[in-house]
Amino acid sequence: MKIIMLGPPNSGKGSYALRLSPILGVPSISTGDLCREEVARGTELGKKIKEIMNKGGLQPDEVIIKMLDNRLKKEDCKKGFILDGYPRTLKQAGDLEKITKIDYVLNLVVPKWILFKRASLRETCEKCGEIYNLGYLKPKREGICDKCGGKLIQRDDDKEVAVKKRFQEYEEKTRPLIEFYKKKGILLNVSNNKIDTPPEIVVNKILDMLGVKK
Ligand SMILES: [Zn+2]
Repeated sequence: MKIIMLGPPNSGKGSYALRLSPILGVPSISTGDLCREEVARGTELGKKIKEIMNKGGLQPDEVIIKMLDNRLKKEDCKKGFILDGYPRTLKQAGDLEKITKIDYVLNLVVPKWILFKRASLRETCEKCGEIYNLGYLKPKREGICDKCGGKLIQRDDDKEVAVKKRFQEYEEKTRPLIEFYKKKGILLNVSNNKIDTPPEIVVNKILDMLGVKK
């Protein structure tokens, strides 16, 4: 099954993708991770990517689609994959169509206030990267990581200004994809109107929609 997770920042795309991946037996693929892996491998492409990263710029579409094309040709993608965070623009959706055929697009429909609240409640371990949520996934000791004892901080990404900026970008560039995939008849809307719905509940709902037996 070839799936795209679509939704605004903080709608839970990554979290649901990681849970769905072992159940569906397909890898969850994020283009951000692919970029970081390429850099870590020190390839020619990786060097270019790093240069752009260091300048804080966005990777060109042709770089991303080339990396993705290589990734999707790997053995573990034979049964399918879940794309988390790609495509983000109509241009990218067009690029993707040229290399593969998507079966379903899971569109996460979450009220705006939840997206902002989630980010404001999130704390990340400075040392190991473990993520906590002061609403429903609290650390045992305030401000301290359960796993490694590191200090918990609010990442710059989760500060209100940054969240607002990414949401605005989503509205302008990514939201049009909903209509694009709806017209193709492969869009499934996954609604969640509560901030404290456990991810497992949403995942079960998605599996029902996909007609997957649990
Ligand atoms: Zn930690």
